[in-house]
Amino acid sequence: MLNFEESDEEKMFREAVREFAQKYIAPAWQEYDRSHEIPRDIIKKMADQMLWAPTVSEEYGGANLSWVMSCIAAEELARADLSIALPVMYLVEASWAFIFDKYGTEEAKKEILPKVTSGDLFFGIATTEPTGGSDLVNTTKTTIKPKDDGYVINGEKVYISGVAESEKYGGVYWTLAKSDPKGDHKAFDAFILPLNMGDGLHPGITTTLFEDMGRMGVSCGGFAIENVDIPKHYLIGEHGRGFYHAMEGFSAARVLIAATCLGAAEGAFKIGVDYVKQRKQFGRPLAAFEGIMFEGVDSWMALQADRHLTYHAAWMMDEHYGKENPNYSKLDIAKYTAAAKYKAPHDALDIITRAMTWHGAFGYSKECPLEASYRGVRSYTVGAEGGSHVQKIVMGREIFGPECLPYRQEKQM
Ligand SMILES: Cc1cc2nc3c(=O)[nH]c(=O)nc-3n(C[C@H](O)[C@H](O)[C@H](O)COP(=O)(O)OP(=O)(O)OC[C@H]3O[C@@H](n4cnc5c(N)ncnc54)[C@H](O)[C@@H]3O)c2cc1C
Repeated sequence: MLNFEESDEEKMFREAVREFAQKYIAPAWQEYDRSHEIPRDIIKKMADQMLWAPTVSEEYGGANLSWVMSCIAAEELARADLSIALPVMYLVEASWAFIFDKYGTEEAKKEILPKVTSGDLFFGIATTEPTGGSDLVNTTKTTIKPKDDGYVINGEKVYISGVAESEKYGGVYWTLAKSDPKGDHKAFDAFILPLNMGDGLHPGITTTLFEDMGRMGVSCGGFAIENVDIPKHYLIGEHGRGFYHAMEGFSAARVLIAATCLGAAEGAFKIGVDYVKQRKQFGRPLAAFEGIMFEGVDSWMALQADRHLTYHAAWMMDEHYGKENPNYSKLDIAKYTAAAKYKAPHDALDIITRAMTWHGAFGYSKECPLEASYRGVRSYTVGAEGGSHVQKIVMGREIFGPECLPYRQEKQM
């Protein structure tokens, strides 16, 4: 049965998150955009509301939240924080802690996840390296080798979210490395890299920070990993399956990114509509000129399309993870989450740009909240959690068949 209505539970949840976000986040985000740090008490308050890594199982302090509900939370957080810094932190942890919960060892989960869901330990993702982030199979140089009763890691990760927060307060990373540097996608292992377990940087790790153009409340940096020992139980999933688990994690992150960009675009759209209804030029409100009104209609149509695509993808994920014999495979999900991750940020950027233009000179000033939104959302059309072209590669693979992928063609030639 086709039904586009949210359930009563989902409606109540949306209202509760919206109330929370408008009360605590909406008045604070412009300050943390300037100070470059999300106040710890906001994260703690979210954790108290079971909104921090809520996709994690209840036994580790999570809420076992559905993907539809997790998207509702992302959307409402971004509606309140137009810079999207807090939603970024939320979505990184919600997606990657979920994959860790699904494939990690009991011992590691007991040790790490309760500290993540309580907001004490950041849970990030580290796949990108100086040699590249799109073609992980051919560019990953970080290695994982068995040593004594565990593993030793060497390499470097760059453009990683949450490095400053992890160094200051504690953080671990869902990390990808190769057990055989010359191997293909079956040579990857996923594991927990303990950057800082709360007692300072782990021996062998040195960090750097980059200055991004947007989402200033969350840091972006990198770390060199030199002979870092990790225990055996930090391995996530089976040896050789790391690449597949990473792809699953990207799908989870991408649907939440789409919901985040949708929320930011909705917030920007409302600001723009309110403005053009009251700002007068040539004797009438700007909204009463069709040149402006039709642009607004284009924005509205894009929001509807993105809402449907995003929640369709989230619903497919709930079907997949909630059923013993799901109708949708991980590849079906990858196709839809890639589509949502491609479309929602691009549309959001158009919607925010229109709203900025409607504000005239004020729209280009730092006083106007839209410029921070523009800077933040742009991160998801550039590359974070996979570049735009890579989303098209994922969709193209499912539409035309893997045999049409250019790099497979090259192998056959
Ligand atoms: C703000 C921000 C935060 C980030 N946070 C994290 C993080 O927490 N953890 C993490 O691991 N990484 C993170 N990243 C890195 C991100 O995952 C990478 O930027 C992304 O995977 C692309 O890798 P790259 O930057 O090395 O670009 P490259 O892989 O060098 O690609 C460069 C450009 O070429 C395009 N391209 C690549 N292949 C093709 C192709 N076959 N056809 C056409 N075009 C192609 C790409 O889309 C991109 O536009 C973050 C990035 C940003 C911007």
